[in-house]
Amino acid sequence: SSYNDKDFSFRVNGGTGRVPVGVGRKRMRIVVTGGAGFVGSHLVDKLIKRGDDVIVIDNFFTGRKENVKHHFGNPRFELIRHDVVEPILLEVDQIYHLACPASPVHYKYNPVKTIKTNVMGTLNMLGLAKRIGARFLLTSTSEVYGDPLEHPQKETYWGHVNPIGVRSCYDEGKRTAETLTMDYHRGANVEVRIARIFNTYGPRMCLDDGRVVSNFVAQAIRKQPMTVYGDGKQTRSFQFVSDLVDGLVALMEGEHIGPFNLGNPGEFTMLELAGVVKEVIDPSATIEFKANTADDPHKRKPDISKAKELLNWEPKISLQEGLPLMVNDFRNRILNEDEGKGN
Ligand code: NAD
Ligand code: UDP
Ligand code: UDP
Repeated sequence: SSYNDKDFSFRVNGGTGRVPVGVGRKRMRIVVTGGAGFVGSHLVDKLIKRGDDVIVIDNFFTGRKENVKHHFGNPRFELIRHDVVEPILLEVDQIYHLACPASPVHYKYNPVKTIKTNVMGTLNMLGLAKRIGARFLLTSTSEVYGDPLEHPQKETYWGHVNPIGVRSCYDEGKRTAETLTMDYHRGANVEVRIARIFNTYGPRMCLDDGRVVSNFVAQAIRKQPMTVYGDGKQTRSFQFVSDLVDGLVALMEGEHIGPFNLGNPGEFTMLELAGVVKEVIDPSATIEFKANTADDPHKRKPDISKAKELLNWEPKISLQEGLPLMVNDFRNRILNEDEGKGN
């Protein structure tokens, strides 16, 4: 590595993107809220690897210490058990704000808490960013487009969202979080970045979060039928987690606010996804149809031209390449569960 331990200083005054990453770059102190979760822990790995100091804030609602335990004992890593709904005082250069349950099962579990996390949690992190002059990145979601009437979705599309449905705590929560982010930018000059993340999968996803990729992969490993909801003709676009993490860092380090769609434009029906799982994980896997959930978007596919052009980013890993990369992690955790050790 090109980093010299004796040559660092904490930069607490914004402007972080003006420093070229790489040789001679100052080491930064970075907060990752939700850093013990699926995406957050992969982001933490990347930031630690490139030589920065990372503080994880997590209340462990869906995150797990196991996801970051390989950094325990590293003086450049800190883990704080904290709920972002409460204020916090820290001195950092950048804030990656990921804290929020992401799967429908988890965000519907306590919808009011989901809204508080999105609104009060985001407000607190923006207040923190304002006070210390840190750059702030919000991980928003493709769900801000709702059940889209425009396909594929561009960032200019305002969405088609039900304000009173069972998904609204998440969709509308994230929409409000985006609004807060832009208002802190316009009103308080906070340097902000907004990512709209499309369905992402990979190692460390919660095993039983009810999401389609984790369900199908776990079901195939357990030799259970893959549960296809509805007619299975609804579509999603699935991005491997390392592609997303590269996009988040490119966005944070770049000069553009966004919002930017970060997703893989490869579009699959749920039946096609089941087919790929069958092909790459277990040729004997079967499927079983189940009733669909309310407000399920019919199709979703990102238009990523903006991120390609302005961030020079695009996903590299196809579904066929990415799925096998999560099998070992899932197999090990399922084995542990079966042996009664929990996950
Ligand atoms: P995750 O559930 O694995 O991670 C979320 C993390 O936030 C967990 O560690 C959880 O414990 C923590 N958290 C939740 N509420 C908190 C609170 N009030 N205070 C502190 N910590 C809290 O989910 P993920 O898939 O890693 O998602 C990370 C972010 O990306 C979320 O903001 C999510 O909305 C967004 N996102 C994810 C996807 C995806 O497909 N995974 C898609 C769109 C957007
Ligand atoms: N906040 C925080 N840490 C800080 C600064 C602010 O958690 O270092 C919280 C603060 O408690 C408030 C929110 O962020 O709830 C918004 O702060 P801001 O200063 O923008 O607004 P105000 O405090 O005036 O409502
Ligand atoms: N789905 C499915 N079987 C499952 C879980 C989900 O067919 O076991 C479908 C679900 O109805 C939806 C799609 O897969 O159409 C994606 O669902 P997920 O919860 O993964 O993500 P989101 O709806 O948030 O995009």
